[in-house]
Amino acid sequence: MKLTKEQFIENTVNAVKSIGLDVSMKQAEMLYTYKELLVEWNEKINLTAVTEDDEVIVKHIIDSLYVAKYIEEGEKVIDVGTGAGLPGMILAIYFDGKVEFTLFDALNKRIIFLNEVIKILGLKNVKAVHGRAEETAKEAGFREVYDVVVSRAVARLNVLMELTSPFAKVGGKCIYMKADKTEEEMKETNKAVVELALTLKDTYEYLLEYNNEYFRRTIIEYNKTDNVKDKYPRQFAKIKKQPL
Ligand code: SAM
Repeated sequence: MKLTKEQFIENTVNAVKSIGLDVSMKQAEMLYTYKELLVEWNEKINLTAVTEDDEVIVKHIIDSLYVAKYIEEGEKVIDVGTGAGLPGMILAIYFDGKVEFTLFDALNKRIIFLNEVIKILGLKNVKAVHGRAEETAKEAGFREVYDVVVSRAVARLNVLMELTSPFAKVGGKCIYMKADKTEEEMKETNKAVVELALTLKDTYEYLLEYNNEYFRRTIIEYNKTDNVKDKYPRQFAKIKKQPL
């Protein structure tokens, strides 16, 4: 459904309140501008299948904000496979410069879009970085330096763990956002959690309501308990062929 700017802002403020959080008018306006840019750029480059105004509020803004409770002010966060900036860009707007965000993706067109959003919104403490996780996670400056690693809709859990855990510092955490097959994927992680020094802390299930339909979502939280062996992540072809 198409909403006016005022309706979009009002609906966003109310939806955010309904999950126990608050955004200022300025932040709600920034979320509106982000949505406008997302829809505009989506016509030129593939960013998202979700483009209806009220759908963006629920499936992108609210869904992303469910991760806010896992992040503290002053922390350093990376969103691996951020795509159009989900959940990272929404969280960066929410934390308003008080958390350092790296929005990371393998597709440079998406990084160009994110840099444009950062510039237009004047966001501080946010950078968009182009690279492949399995390569960049081996670089000093990226390896085991993040308090929180978040990722939504990037790969099966055992593959995702290898791509992301090397970014998390010891004592940090990995937060995975999943839409379906969560239990099935978690059963495949017995080897990955050991090799990648991850300990399951909690899972959190919630429902997103859009157009009288309910969509189940799960956040899986792991603690990073030790350094990861230098050999991880392996090359992507190897990870795909022989997932841990
Ligand atoms: N997180 C966003 C969301 O929920 O809308 C995007 C999800 S999209 C399905 C997956 C994204 O992960 C793509 O933008 C893709 O380029 C990125 N990606 C996949 N494998 C990657 C890798 N090895 N390193 C970095 N980015 C990767």
